[in-house]
Amino acid sequence: MSHPIASYVDSNNLGAWGIYLEQIDRVTPYLGSLSRWVETLKRPKRSLIVDVPIELDNGTIAHYEGYRVHHNLSRGPGKGGIRYHPDVTLSEVMALSAWMSIKTAVVNVPFGGAKGGIRVDPKKLSQSELERMTRRFTSEINMMIGPQKDIPAPDVNTNEQIMAWMMDTYCVNQGYTTSGVVTGKPISLGGSLGRRDATGRGVFVVAREAYRQIGLDLPGARVAVQGLGNVGGEAARLFCEAGAKLVAVQDHSATLYEPNGIDINALLKHVAIVHEIKGFAGEVIPNEQFWTAPCDILIPAALESQINSSNAGGIKAKLLVEGANGPTTPEADDILKDMGVVVVPDVIANAGGVTVSYFEWVQDFSSFFWTEEEINQRLDKLMIEAFQGIGEVAQRHQVTLRTATFIVGCERILKARQMRGIYP
Ligand code: GLU
Repeated sequence: MSHPIASYVDSNNLGAWGIYLEQIDRVTPYLGSLSRWVETLKRPKRSLIVDVPIELDNGTIAHYEGYRVHHNLSRGPGKGGIRYHPDVTLSEVMALSAWMSIKTAVVNVPFGGAKGGIRVDPKKLSQSELERMTRRFTSEINMMIGPQKDIPAPDVNTNEQIMAWMMDTYCVNQGYTTSGVVTGKPISLGGSLGRRDATGRGVFVVAREAYRQIGLDLPGARVAVQGLGNVGGEAARLFCEAGAKLVAVQDHSATLYEPNGIDINALLKHVAIVHEIKGFAGEVIPNEQFWTAPCDILIPAALESQINSSNAGGIKAKLLVEGANGPTTPEADDILKDMGVVVVPDVIANAGGVTVSYFEWVQDFSSFFWTEEEINQRLDKLMIEAFQGIGEVAQRHQVTLRTATFIVGCERILKARQMRGIYP
């Protein structure tokens, strides 16, 4: 039986949560008898909204709104990043937590789905303000997190330093040191080799496999990347290393187009210094033209809903691989399907990050650390096998890769849900 979604979400403006609900509706007909349990996926298990007050450097008091959502814990502790962005809302965090449930199930790591965030522009804070906000937020969500309960990680605008502050705050409150409470930590605190680059690496590995399946090879392929952060930057670098050409890049500051290929190492150096692509040599084109730039592989690696009914029809790529979470709306999915563009969905394409987060968590528990080579080998193998499995499901049901990926993820979650049953 269907019940209205949670009352605290604006049903006229569902945003990312609306996209997620539509994705669940599209997969439901393929879930057989498990569809009896599907309502469990259409609401978070629990959501916490917290006030985060801090004293700014100038002596005034600022309040920020923070969130931590547990979407589903049927298969294990909650897992998912913490996002700092001025547009973060509860319903966005709900969607991101739900995609984490699907993602952890698709790569079959023993976690549920969670996500957190603060509605803040971190660029406007000093380093010490950022630290105070992170520590207060961690204290406020203390009842939600823990190595066996829910394990945060980096996401948009959060990094290893922020994870170190979160870990320290949690451990000081507990009275002992336990590194497995967050992943994406600095190596010196029990972080994992390979974790920083894992999401971008996973995007690359899955894209290479998908491109091979269409019968094409990477050398000479033209690649366009939106977002040159931790995910897009590393993916772009690996594509160039494999002989592909980076022909277009876009971030919040500019869009560059260079049919002969952009020098990725020089661009990444520029971005490391000025934190944006603006000012880098090359042809600057209007932002909307990024989506129509001639290319073979398109990698959105920024925020949600970038590819929608207004720009999907102009896309020239043969393959779209989602580095970001939720970059393509369901309407755009339909347009791309009709155009014959293969879309590798976020919940497999960017699952490399959470996969190596799992490796980090396991290493922390066993206090035994692996080499970077071991980590990358295990990551590549796991991602390729998961992606091949999805391809078989897509063939069997004659559905898109997104629907096939959701079939795999939802089945695993709902089987666990069914076996556990409802208590009392
Ligand atoms: N924030 C990343 C994601 O969206 C990683 C989450 C994690 O490692 O827990 O997948």
